[in-house]
Amino acid sequence: MVGSCQVSSEEHAMDETTNIVLVGAGHAHLHLAARVERLIERGAHVTLISPGDFWYSGMASGMLGGDYRDDEDRLDPAALIRAGGGEVIDDRVVGIDRQARQLRLAESPPLAYDLLSLNLGSRVATNAIIGIGGDAHVWPAKPVGRLWRLRQLLETALAEQAPLPRLAVIGGGPTGVELTANLLGLGERYGRELEISLVSASERLLPEAPRSASRWVARRLYRRGARLELAASAVAWEPGRLRLDDGSEVGADHVLLASGLVAPDLVGELGLRSDARQGLAITPALHAPEDPRIFAVGDCAWLEHAPYPKLGVFGVRQGPVLLANLEARLTGAAPRHFQPQRRYLSILNLGDGRGLGLWGRFWWRGRSALALKRRLDHRFMAAYRAGTGR
Ligand SMILES: Cc1cc2nc3c(=O)[nH]c(=O)nc-3n(C[C@H](O)[C@H](O)[C@H](O)COP(=O)(O)OP(=O)(O)OC[C@H]3O[C@@H](n4cnc5c(N)ncnc54)[C@H](O)[C@@H]3O)c2cc1C
Repeated sequence: MVGSCQVSSEEHAMDETTNIVLVGAGHAHLHLAARVERLIERGAHVTLISPGDFWYSGMASGMLGGDYRDDEDRLDPAALIRAGGGEVIDDRVVGIDRQARQLRLAESPPLAYDLLSLNLGSRVATNAIIGIGGDAHVWPAKPVGRLWRLRQLLETALAEQAPLPRLAVIGGGPTGVELTANLLGLGERYGRELEISLVSASERLLPEAPRSASRWVARRLYRRGARLELAASAVAWEPGRLRLDDGSEVGADHVLLASGLVAPDLVGELGLRSDARQGLAITPALHAPEDPRIFAVGDCAWLEHAPYPKLGVFGVRQGPVLLANLEARLTGAAPRHFQPQRRYLSILNLGDGRGLGLWGRFWWRGRSALALKRRLDHRFMAAYRAGTGR
């Protein structure tokens, strides 16, 4: 068994099997699932707990807009990890007892761990808008799988020439812009115009992007028929209308929430240092400072000295470091450190065959941007479908 961060290799030689439990099939855990034999060869028993498929958010807006089918946007992590000798429990963790080193699952018996890794993703912050919780007409951008249901609902109305529902997207960041652009694109595929309002508290869309890019994308969405409500916050929702903080109202039969991602509640219940927005505090070696048996990666983790944005690309980069550090626990080797990159490429799918590429202060738009995004996304998914991982 692993007693601490610093366990000698002699101790390990005498050890029994180390139970490594991976919770959530996020980007970093996919990397491990594709290489799980490396942990098993070193004496670990590896179990992944995942409620169903991995949905790839990089293709989610395209799926909503009609570019991809649902099965093109998801992977079966169970097949991946079983091929390397790992196990899967199709369930959800609902509680973690650190003293007993045991996980409580929604439907299965409790599960013990020696080492635990959390790759739980994030959820959309919803509590700031009165009436928004638990309504069937409200569609948070995550979990991504629900966007497929929204597309089916909209396509039924579009194809039947039925009256079209009015839509409001809340959030003017990359996700809100992509969702709006792809909803427009879905209507365009059927030669019909969906009535879409984009509501954003910021004065410009994509506040982190260069101003010229924000201006261009705002013009583009406006020309395609979107109504832009900028410098306005949604404060209350009831079926049919969304109230804004200036007292005005937006007619909306369905609301999509892209109002920022926050950490899942589970990480706040561990009794370890965490931030409700950012996630579980981790060291550069990717474990909790106060409990080295607990690792966390991706959106649910908070690298205190160098916080990174909630983007899949960071989980992808953490995968190899997490694998190396779990191996290091089994062999007594020194851990590797994760340092998030300062710049990263971001390409938005604009739902009309064009993309918007952002790299620091540089940006470009057009068909070449979307073609590059498609190539990268397809490569990612194809590698995992082939069982090799990227
Ligand atoms: C519409 C949209 C588009 C986006 N586009 C991009 C993009 O193009 N590029 C980019 O880099 N980022 C993008 N993002 C951000 C991206 O979604 C997140 O940053 C990324 O998914 C986080 O990855 P992760 O590995 O942390 O977790 P995820 O990939 O979200 O996976 C977490 C997994 O944990 C599982 N899980 C959660 N709770 C439990 C539990 N209690 N027990 C067991 N399992 C659990 C979930 O089911 C899920 O499968 C987008 C987000 C949205 C909403």
